[in-house]
Amino acid sequence: MNIIVADTAGFCFGVNKAINTINQLLEDEHKRIYTLGPIIHNEQLVDMLCKKGVEVIEDVNSITEKGYVVIRAHGVTPDVYKSITDKQLEMIDLTCPYVKKIHKLVEEKYGEGYTIIIAGDKKHPEVIGINGWCENSAFIVNSIEDVKNIEGTGGNTCIVAQTTLTEDKWVKITEYIKKAFQNVIKFDTICNATTQRQLEGVKIASGVDMMIVIGGAQSSNTEKLYQKCREICGNTYKIETVGDLPPININNINNVGITAGASTPDWIIKEVIDRMEELNKEQQQETEINFKEAFEDSIVTLQSGKTVKGKIIGFNDSEIYVDLGYKCDGILPIEEYTDEPGFKAEDNIQPGDEIEVFILRVDDKEGQVKLSKKVVDEKNKWNAVKKAHKDKTPVEAEIVEVVKGGVIAVYNGLKIFIPASQVSDKYVKDLSEFLHKKLPVRIIEFNKRKQKVVGSHRIIVEEEKEAKVTKLWEEIEEGKEYKGLVTGLTDFGAFVDIGGVDGLIHLTELSWNKIKHPSQVVKTGDEVEVRVLEFDKEKGRVSLGYRKLEDNPWYKIDEKYKVGDSVKGKVVRLVPFGVFVELEKGLDGLVHISQISNKRIAKPEDVIKNGQEVEARVMEVDGEKKRLSLSIKEANPIDPPEPEGPPAVEKVEEKKPVRERKKKIVKGSVPKTAPKQEAPARHVEEMNLKLGDMLSGLDLSHFGEADETAGEPAAHVEEAPKNTGEDKTMVSEEQKEAE
Ligand code: SF4
Repeated sequence: MNIIVADTAGFCFGVNKAINTINQLLEDEHKRIYTLGPIIHNEQLVDMLCKKGVEVIEDVNSITEKGYVVIRAHGVTPDVYKSITDKQLEMIDLTCPYVKKIHKLVEEKYGEGYTIIIAGDKKHPEVIGINGWCENSAFIVNSIEDVKNIEGTGGNTCIVAQTTLTEDKWVKITEYIKKAFQNVIKFDTICNATTQRQLEGVKIASGVDMMIVIGGAQSSNTEKLYQKCREICGNTYKIETVGDLPPININNINNVGITAGASTPDWIIKEVIDRMEELNKEQQQETEINFKEAFEDSIVTLQSGKTVKGKIIGFNDSEIYVDLGYKCDGILPIEEYTDEPGFKAEDNIQPGDEIEVFILRVDDKEGQVKLSKKVVDEKNKWNAVKKAHKDKTPVEAEIVEVVKGGVIAVYNGLKIFIPASQVSDKYVKDLSEFLHKKLPVRIIEFNKRKQKVVGSHRIIVEEEKEAKVTKLWEEIEEGKEYKGLVTGLTDFGAFVDIGGVDGLIHLTELSWNKIKHPSQVVKTGDEVEVRVLEFDKEKGRVSLGYRKLEDNPWYKIDEKYKVGDSVKGKVVRLVPFGVFVELEKGLDGLVHISQISNKRIAKPEDVIKNGQEVEARVMEVDGEKKRLSLSIKEANPIDPPEPEGPPAVEKVEEKKPVRERKKKIVKGSVPKTAPKQEAPARHVEEMNLKLGDMLSGLDLSHFGEADETAGEPAAHVEEAPKNTGEDKTMVSEEQKEAE
């Protein structure tokens, strides 16, 4: 026969605490101890305590001799507290934290005007106690019939449960209430320990031939546990002690399950197991299974100084109760949970949460296990940092303090010293600029014994940079575009960080216009978009381009300006062979001297001046050669002013015979015998010679050389125009005059 004992059998943490406290009082104090009602629903234990001097009373008014008044786990009404205070009695409040929570809820909701419904047994002391917190005004229901009787109650309704109510009854009642009532707020206050015990009992009952539920006859939770198991296994018995066991035919039973209510002491459970063992021995002499050992084996053995895992099963303001699978639950004082000021267990933990704890002390005599989570946390912190040191993995630490020679960072609650030289890869004048920043830190020194941890942020930064630089050199290619930061300016260009590598934008690559210094275009700290013109991995050099093709004023010039277009511009430069007119920033067109006026002019400044706004006609557009020829004459000619008074030639004609005039003109410039028609030809040669002189030594294929101030190729290229038919026309006019 196999005996399966439920892990949840026996005292819950609320009862455990109550019994331990009473035992402690009996040991340490020599005052009388009164319990308001039996401390638990277990006659045997109550009798035992009674023999030790614990008196069960029903009313504080019956106390004649001063002593401690113990409030049991079920809790009481506010009136009882008042009576104890009024009588100036010393009170030991052992109300289970779960029950206390219900008191608070009911008091609060009742204060807000809610009608309170308690799902539970109206005669149970816990329910009576809860009802007191809404001035005994609650409707107490234990079935759907009870709910039907109170239907029609208006207003807002709040429903809570007795801690030992079964889950299915709670669901049935609340579902009915939700349909029948309006504005219902429900709080599932069924104790987790009870639910767990019932679930485990049902699970065991489903796989055994016989089920034994041990608990006091008055114990509500034992009765419900019994009912639940019985639904599954018809061969279920509820017993108070071993003496209540029915006659058992062991031959018919292969597996037997044992569970117990929350108020059943361990020794009663053990007696039942012993008896089952005897029965087993009687029937199966040859089998040497020691059921006692089996039971003890099923109980985890604990050792002080070990770290174990457990499950939180409850808490109050000063302690957390942890199920360790041991015969009694562990107690974790709040001060051993955290140092956090104002820590509230209810805001941070929940029953059912898993927890890792350190066993400070196992006290078998009292059945108490003292735990600490802080010890585990401390160990974990050091282990995490030790691992980070070993694996060289960075940790995210917050700088919390500037100290002499560096800063203090905190990671996982542990302090890390970062020397000033390790805070950054650059010199930091004022370390406080890092305060409250979170930085990745590499642990470079670790010594738990000396409680010393040293970190470096600088190493991480340098490694990141190095990785970025390597990647950049791997991926760089001509024409590739980068976003970068301008890191410095010099006379010959701007340096830009494109990801760990500084590239240079040469002055000529900054703008399409002529500039004298990079600061005319960018400044240090600017984010710029650049493209790689060329690079040299060996020398670590990168040449960058900044100006964009579409910003070039000559870009798609023939789409912007067509021959014959009328344009306006400003004269920006006068040269002997014409003027340059700026049509837009960086785009100058040339008006040849012959294209300024309808009349012959010796030099452009005779009719035009720098800065003058002019109208012109586009004569030629050549984007490739960067040539834009304009004509003012074709648009709005600028003629020289007529000389004042009558023309000199008329005067001559009046005073001298034509023959003489002819003679005089011929004398200075034309040979006497020269044929008339040769004069213009010679004049053309002279004109060409003058232009040749002007342009000699200049390479007119580059405009930059037409601009005597430019050090770099200029934005446009203009050749001095060759002598054209226009010039010939001009010469003919001169010839006429000469004639
Ligand atoms: S059964 Fe639950 S509510 Fe009742 S005393 Fe035990 S832990 Fe507290």
